[in-house]
Amino acid sequence: MVKYDGIVIGGGPAGMFAAITAAKNGQKVLLLERNDRLGKKLLITGKGRCNVTNDCSEQEVLQNTPRNGRFLYSAMTAFPPAKIKAFFEENGCPLKTERGNRVFPVSDRSQSVLECLQRQLRRQNVTVKTGRVRHILVEAGKVTGVETQNEKLSADWVILATGGASYPTTGSTGDGYAMAQTLGHTIVEPQGSLVPLETEGRDCQDMQGLSLRNVGVKLLNPKGKVLYKDFGELLFTHFGVSGPTVLSASCHLKGEGCRLVIDLKPALEENKLDDRILRDLELYQNRSMENALTDLLPRSMIPVVLRRLEIDPEMQANSLTKQKRRALVELLKAFSVEITGKRPVAEAIITSGGVKVSEIDPKTMQSKKVTGLYFAGEVIDCDAYTGGFNLQIAWATAYAAGMAVSMKME
Ligand SMILES: Cc1cc2nc3c(=O)[nH]c(=O)nc-3n(C[C@H](O)[C@H](O)[C@H](O)COP(=O)(O)OP(=O)(O)OC[C@H]3O[C@@H](n4cnc5c(N)ncnc54)[C@H](O)[C@@H]3O)c2cc1C
Repeated sequence: MVKYDGIVIGGGPAGMFAAITAAKNGQKVLLLERNDRLGKKLLITGKGRCNVTNDCSEQEVLQNTPRNGRFLYSAMTAFPPAKIKAFFEENGCPLKTERGNRVFPVSDRSQSVLECLQRQLRRQNVTVKTGRVRHILVEAGKVTGVETQNEKLSADWVILATGGASYPTTGSTGDGYAMAQTLGHTIVEPQGSLVPLETEGRDCQDMQGLSLRNVGVKLLNPKGKVLYKDFGELLFTHFGVSGPTVLSASCHLKGEGCRLVIDLKPALEENKLDDRILRDLELYQNRSMENALTDLLPRSMIPVVLRRLEIDPEMQANSLTKQKRRALVELLKAFSVEITGKRPVAEAIITSGGVKVSEIDPKTMQSKKVTGLYFAGEVIDCDAYTGGFNLQIAWATAYAAGMAVSMKME
């Protein structure tokens, strides 16, 4: 039987990069992936373009990691975005930087990122096998190998990189949580993060499919405290709201009774907006209200706005009272929707929760409970905003674990 120094469980970005790092540093590595191919989730990242990382400093990555960013300090300092950029550039996957410092492959295809990683796996002689790991084997507090559905394999170390519980059809079904828990680790309850939000009433449903660019978004708790503020894109859906600003806001949603307040005209102060509305109402004074607002608002939003203000859509524009016009201004500056909850974790971009960070050594990613057990990627209880930060967490934690197993740091 071939004896490996170590086994990496999970062939996602974290697992592949940990395997490459360890093998490059002299380890004989086996990578086990339950799917018949590697990187299934990686392929759908960035709408199929893969936002590989964010071209920023390590501090900025941590600032964009609302959950347990501080735990990542050492790993991110040792392996900041510049290093993963260099890795891809030097290994045949040229990159480009777009708005918001988001880094993508020049090809605009996540396949190029995957192929680059696969070339490196081959070059470093990593053995890749299909197999769903059921258990990590431990004797006297030390890792001895793993058990798959049909065999037992021995190894001195194991890196657990099974990802989270979102998009389970990609293979990330949360297996790693159960394996870590069996070995005494605490699992912080997995929940969706970067996830669309469900809303009360029918307003969002009536506007489903409408995508708004350049809107201001605030998430408020029941006491009116601002939990999160953003500017950008928002999408109305059949269940509520989605889009980049909403996904980021979802990381801050706590408890019930929160609401999202949308500034539909962030470039205009209230008095300027009032002037603008007055001009439109004068211009279209003989039209119905429904038709007088078409320059100001997207078509599907007009009936919702008029319903909220109790304005008859058939009413002639020149009959609108000053009071109603003021109410319109206020509504456009603060269009409020009640949040009833998050969409299920399966629909989330990222899983919040996972292996508790206080039980992991932040320099090496080694378990503080089992010698020879390491963690990398989304299985750890850390998550960040969109912008390439989550993959950056996968690369940096994988690098830390891959280096640590090679140095036999304990
Ligand atoms: C739609 C979508 C778009 C995204 N876009 C971006 C983006 O553009 N930029 C960004 O930074 N982040 C993005 N993310 C987040 C990013 O995909 C994750 O952060 C990243 O994939 C985590 O990597 P990972 O290797 O830890 O886990 P995964 O990618 O989930 O990989 C885990 C692997 O482990 C395997 N596995 C699980 N259990 C077992 C087992 N028992 N035995 C063997 N193998 C197992 C799985 O099959 C899977 O291949 C996106 C996520 C989604 C869902």
